Amino acid sequence: MRKKAVIITTGDEILEGLTLNTNQQYISMKLNEIGVEVIRAVSVPDDLSAISRAVKEGMEDSDFVIISGGLGPTEDDLTREAVAKALGRKLSINGEMLEEIRNRFRRRNIELSDNTRKQAMLIEGAKFLKNDVGSAPGQMIEYEGKVLFILPGPPSELKPMFENFVVPVIRSKIKSDMNVKIYRFSGIPEAVLEEAIHDIIYNNEGIKASTTLDGFIGPTIRLTYSRNLEEEIVKIEKEIVSRVGEYLYSIGDKRLDEVVIEELLKLNTTIATAESCTGGLLSAKIVDYPGVSKIFKGGVVCYSNESKINLLDVDEEVLKKYGAVSSQTVEKMAENVSRKFSADIGIGVSGIAGPTGGTEEKPVGLVYIGIHFENATRVFEKRFSGDRNSIRWRAVYSAFDELRKILLSRKKG
Ligand code: AMP
Ligand code: MG
Repeated sequence: MRKKAVIITTGDEILEGLTLNTNQQYISMKLNEIGVEVIRAVSVPDDLSAISRAVKEGMEDSDFVIISGGLGPTEDDLTREAVAKALGRKLSINGEMLEEIRNRFRRRNIELSDNTRKQAMLIEGAKFLKNDVGSAPGQMIEYEGKVLFILPGPPSELKPMFENFVVPVIRSKIKSDMNVKIYRFSGIPEAVLEEAIHDIIYNNEGIKASTTLDGFIGPTIRLTYSRNLEEEIVKIEKEIVSRVGEYLYSIGDKRLDEVVIEELLKLNTTIATAESCTGGLLSAKIVDYPGVSKIFKGGVVCYSNESKINLLDVDEEVLKKYGAVSSQTVEKMAENVSRKFSADIGIGVSGIAGPTGGTEEKPVGLVYIGIHFENATRVFEKRFSGDRNSIRWRAVYSAFDELRKILLSRKKG
């Protein structure tokens, strides 16, 4: 039997639509990855009895309850009180927690206010969970064989605490031997992928297969199984690799951009970008990755024709004859940006992101991606669907994917 979890996200701002409930999505995804079934995710307002009721119901129905938000110092931060009430436990100041908060304020040279002391209130029998990013510590409470976690609302605080405290505890409690394996693909539609491997992933009772789309990157296949089926999984995996291996960019947690950047770091191969329709999204995605200064030389957003001519030496004649969105133009963008930045690799992207500006010959969604590497420039013509945002992001991930394949073929060759 899979262990069950209930997620409770708190805060008026979520119910009023002012804050997107990304904590719920993150926690759901993480729990799923470690094989826990999320049976319910609720959002409740900053209200003592609403939170308390949700906690009681959560504890009745599941093995793990994860609560986010309401750990701040202000009047509307009620999670501690609500959980104590739901479990019938006392709440009192914890010296160690108070010291921790004090030190934090001292380091920042701020006076500890009275209401901040509230953050040092620990529920009877709870263990406090250190918060390295913000001032509100979390708490973990074991209750009748179940475990309840309280985590702060800001995602930058919640995520590391979830990784550091929640994941290890849950893993150690999962006596069931369930395992999850994630296969990540790019450059192939979800339906085509499923069709290609349908007969192998759905033919074992003990293996649960599900396919999802990972944003604009591509489809993923998730296999959940008990460890005694490991041999079966090896067979399935071999078959997946042999049928659709060219689209499979990672097995596990690593996403496409990460896979490519790690490879560039490993090879010590530098890169520069020339972006038109993506307007810097590609370089921003590269810079997301820490330590990237070793391989990322820089980029140019060359949206206008003049900038393509003046900054990247694209011939005016080429632009006139073939247009800004053309194979010839991105070829020059890629070549010249690698030269200007003295980078091993140059990537050029130009396309029609829409919703206007499309023609019959060059419709919205047409994107050219040029990759210059080792004296050769390859240009890929793509036709993406979706709105402006989707097309631009698809172009970014598609550029990563083509680069991944080039690096891979070089490795093989
Ligand atoms: P809180 O701990 O409830 O005071 O939350 C502090 C801040 O964290 C809020 O103002 C939001 O910006 C953010 N936050 C709280 N809950 C969530 C959530 N479920 N998803 C994303 N952000 C959240
Ligand atoms: Mg709040």
